[in-house]
Amino acid sequence: MNKTAVITGGGTGIGRAISLKLAEDGFNIAVNCLESLLPQAQAVAEECRARGVEAECFVADVSKFDACAEMVKAVQERFGSVDVLVNNAGITRDGLIARMSEDQYDSVVNVNQKGVFNMIRHVTPVMMKQRSGRIVSMASVSGLYGNAGQLNYSASKAAIVGMTKTAAKELGGRGITVNAVAPGFIQTDMTAKLSDKAKEAILGGVALKRMGQPEDVANAVAFLASDAAGYITGQVLVVDGGMGQ
Ligand code: NAP
Repeated sequence: MNKTAVITGGGTGIGRAISLKLAEDGFNIAVNCLESLLPQAQAVAEECRARGVEAECFVADVSKFDACAEMVKAVQERFGSVDVLVNNAGITRDGLIARMSEDQYDSVVNVNQKGVFNMIRHVTPVMMKQRSGRIVSMASVSGLYGNAGQLNYSASKAAIVGMTKTAAKELGGRGITVNAVAPGFIQTDMTAKLSDKAKEAILGGVALKRMGQPEDVANAVAFLASDAAGYITGQVLVVDGGMGQ
């Protein structure tokens, strides 16, 4: 029987690339999305099925505790197990500190940080019972190095690093690994919003002198989800083309 992977925000950008890569690796795929993105997520599920696995969409807002519980239950009922959780859903609401609204801060923390708690919280009892599981969460270089204009976002992503390390310690005894991937500057809708000037400035600090592709991140996630990464836990794998050096 195929293993099952849940990818939050799996209908676009990096989440889409992860869904397709894990489908290629033989996982059945649960594509999570918001209601508004269901058509795109359904297209991704279709692309996964074309790779020979089962795939279905599950609508849930990851910032809602009960909605995540219902989704995990539905995935388990549909596929029989939850073997891999990829916490990929995320948003930005950038702004300078002096002008950042409470809503800008709360909305980003609710999706990026609390969303990861909600999903880890609800898959943990399932994985503990299975005595196996892989959790991979999307952090960011913004949470490791800081980034002007992203106080809310960097707070939420740094929190993911802390949650990853704690969950790794708590769940390791049950055969569950917990890791994070920290992408740098990746070509998706999220970065398409930036001006050409801002993009040029960021690229100046990238050793490989190009933006990363969603597939670059998906390959790292697939490695951490694979049997080959069985002795790696509590780590943050940076995929930034050499930004931090
Ligand atoms: P993206 O295309 O905007 O993907 C984010 C996905 O998450 C979208 O499908 C989005 O749906 C979904 N989402 C947002 N809020 C949600 C919620 N409450 N519940 C469920 N799904 C929700 O951006 P991306 O670049 O692929 O980002 C994927 C992840 O990588 C994010 O966690 C991001 O922070 C991280 N990351 C990206 C970069 C980069 O350079 N692109 C760098 C570092 C880290 P909607 O479109 O409907 O909002």
